[in-house]
Amino acid sequence: MNAIAFDNSYARLPDRFFSRRQPTAVADPRPIRVNHALATLLGIDPHWLESAEGTAVLAGNATPEGAEPIATVYAGHQFGSYNPQLGDGRAILLGEVIGADGQRYDIQLKGSGPTPYSRGGDGRAPLGAVLREYLVSESMHALGLPTTRALGAVTTGEQVARESFLPGAVLCRVAQSHIRIGTFQFFAARQDTEALRVLVDHVLARHYPDALDEDNQPLALLRRVISAQASLVAQWQLLGFIHGVMNTDNMLLSGETIDYGPCAFMDDFHPDKVYSSIDHGGRYAYGNQPGIAHWNLAALAQALLPVLHDDPEQAVALAQDCVDTFPEQFTRAHRKGLARKLGLAELLEEDRTLADELLQLMAEQQLDFTLTFRRLADLAGPGNESSLKLPDEDGSVARLFEIPDALLPWLARWQQRLAQETTTAGERQASMYAANPVFIPRNHLVEEALQAATEKGDFAPFNTLLKVLARPFAFDAALARFATPPKPEQVVRQTFCGT
Ligand code: AMP
Ligand code: MG
Repeated sequence: MNAIAFDNSYARLPDRFFSRRQPTAVADPRPIRVNHALATLLGIDPHWLESAEGTAVLAGNATPEGAEPIATVYAGHQFGSYNPQLGDGRAILLGEVIGADGQRYDIQLKGSGPTPYSRGGDGRAPLGAVLREYLVSESMHALGLPTTRALGAVTTGEQVARESFLPGAVLCRVAQSHIRIGTFQFFAARQDTEALRVLVDHVLARHYPDALDEDNQPLALLRRVISAQASLVAQWQLLGFIHGVMNTDNMLLSGETIDYGPCAFMDDFHPDKVYSSIDHGGRYAYGNQPGIAHWNLAALAQALLPVLHDDPEQAVALAQDCVDTFPEQFTRAHRKGLARKLGLAELLEEDRTLADELLQLMAEQQLDFTLTFRRLADLAGPGNESSLKLPDEDGSVARLFEIPDALLPWLARWQQRLAQETTTAGERQASMYAANPVFIPRNHLVEEALQAATEKGDFAPFNTLLKVLARPFAFDAALARFATPPKPEQVVRQTFCGT
């Protein structure tokens, strides 16, 4: 029996969708970690994946039976300007498997050597970038967001040349697919209508099979992707997640978060927050994310025009109507999530001021985004309905974060509003605890883990942090360090692509 039961649907598409390319072997592959739960979901024996044979596969030194390694081609708008030729420059898709959940998954190596799309790059990844993606993507999964995942990672025994020489690594990334808005843009720019049709069929069959009986298939696809992205970006906003590089080649048709380069979870809240070292104009600032998603979806609609309708004017009208639904869909998803974060069944029209005022106070007072909401959940419990401050109890984050006095008038109004709900305080608190995590991949903790691994070869902080992030909603006072905002000297102000 093959170690991995590949069934490679993308490699069966026409040749112009990809280039066949083997990973480039590395000098001395050593395992960093294997994701047991994910391996099991994919029908891969985690112990095999940890063996010398599995390590060789994760490093790109051995091609497993049934794999058909390819680098896929795409284009994309990067910071608003169109780049007609991108593609997997440092990634190779080994193939696809059907998981135990019936879902098809891509298995891709990232950092596995040059491809025809490397554009002068070395096709390699530094260890820090690999660990960062591992930590943040697995944390996003634990937080309940659709995301690419990490099946495993290895060090290469080679150095990669960046500003300095850094240890190299390869990440094995798993996604429902790696098809991007930029994949459609690539073919649209070449007026390859046939390829667009093939791609629409492929993506619908793979991600939105419920739409297969609709008359206008490209329109059905556009609708589904708009809804999926509205929901995804709403979830980012609700967690204080800043993607950092929302180029159209970094937005998946599957609606999963991809590309954990210069991303960050905010510490203190401000709508203008930017962490990415390359985002000089703040194009991808926290508060801009919904607008940018809308813009990217318009780029997808544009790419689909030739297949939306034979009459160009009607095609534009269909696309426009569809894209115009994004703001409404985003707002609905965001309000629903905000209601849950605040312990309300619904965010009524008159509650919007309440929510807006909280965010404004948080920005003025530079309050920690994660802990403010978590503290509200503490305060929502039975018996606290009329108390503005709660003694330090087990399970509460009171020792890590106290509501400042400036928030007390707001708190009083919020508690009055909660009193109108039909749910019990216990139910509300449980629901709030499930919506307001306490453990997020804080930038200073991520940096600490990356530094220990890169500078000292010490993977203990990485492994510990990964374990903590796997249970983001359950506070444990023994792990308080991982829930604590950075001290002034620990604050990370910039994150890097690390490519
Ligand atoms: P990203 O900013 O990660 O979305 O990457 C943008 C493009 O640059 C993609 O086509 C990547 O494949 C390519 N790229 C990034 N880093 C490298 C590298 N080290 N070697 C080759 N290509 C790269
Ligand atoms: Mg990318």
